[in-house]
Amino acid sequence: AKRSGKNCFRFFTQDIADSLKERQQIEKGLKLALSEEHFSLVYMPIFDCRDSTIVAVEALLRCHSPDLKGIGPDRFIPVAEATGLIKDIDLWVINNALKALVSLQSEHGFEGKICINISGVELHNELFPAQVKALLETYKVSPEYIELEVTETAFVAGDTTCMATLEALEALGVSLALDDFGTGYTAFSQLINYPADCLKIDRSFVNDLFSEREARKKMVMVIQNLAKLYGLRVIAEGVETQEQLDYLKQSGCDWAQGYYLSKPLIWNDFIKKLHA
Ligand code: C2E
Ligand code: CA
Ligand code: CA
Ligand code: CA
Repeated sequence: AKRSGKNCFRFFTQDIADSLKERQQIEKGLKLALSEEHFSLVYMPIFDCRDSTIVAVEALLRCHSPDLKGIGPDRFIPVAEATGLIKDIDLWVINNALKALVSLQSEHGFEGKICINISGVELHNELFPAQVKALLETYKVSPEYIELEVTETAFVAGDTTCMATLEALEALGVSLALDDFGTGYTAFSQLINYPADCLKIDRSFVNDLFSEREARKKMVMVIQNLAKLYGLRVIAEGVETQEQLDYLKQSGCDWAQGYYLSKPLIWNDFIKKLHA
């Protein structure tokens, strides 16, 4: 089709109008989800690379609002962050993940960690550590079983609020994981300043393990060496083939998760998997 400047402009404004409308619809759906309990968690098992036992589980959010049909957290979390709804959503998630952990421990003999995603927004929220503390007390769970995952891009080394929040969380005794590691710009020398316990290798690097691009292929190795240097645990995400799993195993990766091992499961299916 012929593209005049005028047409481009029209397409452009139409795009903006569409995305604004979508954003408003998502916002409406999220508000409804908070008031009507349209949220749920699914559970993705995390395996020990050496013996393939389930050592942890990542809780992932799902929303069943009619306005959010077919829309996953990749799309609704950014809207939640832009509208401020994320704070209530993160608390909903932590609350329900801890509830799940209590049941896993008392009824299913689970001894692993529950890994909970929190928005980078919380690193700038001075109230957050106290809110986490209150929830730990409500459910009487020991903090050693909790890992909070924050995307690497949210860590700002020089930012005092961010560092204070991380330190307050560390003081609670929960562990901290840098999610999507390798996609941000953490200077390796900065790692020592973060009270982190774990690096989660971003799925894109696991994907590239057998790619033609030598440099990307080596990232998994680089991250693992870095983790060893700083005494951090490593979780590889997005494992989709036996080949990738074998490589991770022999290169000394601690834990792994991915569709090849298990998709995220609804509660009943996760329980079955745990007892299988
Ligand atoms: P994430 O924390 O990096 O979570 C991993 C995402 O990758 C999940 O998508 C998971 O289903 C998917 N995944 C895991 N293994 C594989 C694999 O082998 N292949 C492929 N193709 N995908 C895999 P999901 O559940 O759609 O979550 C997307 C993102 O949304 C998460 O990325 C996280 O950033 C955010 N998110 C999810 N749940 C929550 C939550 O409860 N709170 C917050 N704040 N963010 C959340
Ligand atoms: Ca995660
Ligand atoms: Ca990730
Ligand atoms: Ca620590």
